[in-house]
Amino acid sequence: MKELTCIVCPVGCHLSVDESLKVVGNRCPRGEKYAIVEMTSPKRMLTTTVKTQFTDCPRLSVKTKEPVPKELIFKILSLLEDIVIEKHVKIGDVIVADIYHTGVDIVATKSINHEGVIL
Ligand code: SF4
Repeated sequence: MKELTCIVCPVGCHLSVDESLKVVGNRCPRGEKYAIVEMTSPKRMLTTTVKTQFTDCPRLSVKTKEPVPKELIFKILSLLEDIVIEKHVKIGDVIVADIYHTGVDIVATKSINHEGVIL
């Protein structure tokens, strides 16, 4: 039996999952889905920053557009270390498409103009 706290909504139901993936403690179906994914292929949203060429704003904040497999988080962070933003970027622009063949894009969470000023 594995104990989990559902993080899908602020209620934070306390979940128990047995070896056959039977879930108890969830107040709604989303909790069961969360628990099964967490037990079989856990995923996480990733927020981080990438380098820019602009001295006034040397890092730009980015995130995964959707959750990615937890076991790929450090590989994705390593890949993003090589990224350098060299031009104007709008919030939501794709910085890296299909990161690590996950089907998930890395997108900007801030806009930066051609002079490196956060907008
Ligand atoms: S099981 Fe449903 S109600 Fe409970 S925390 Fe998860 S999403 Fe919220």
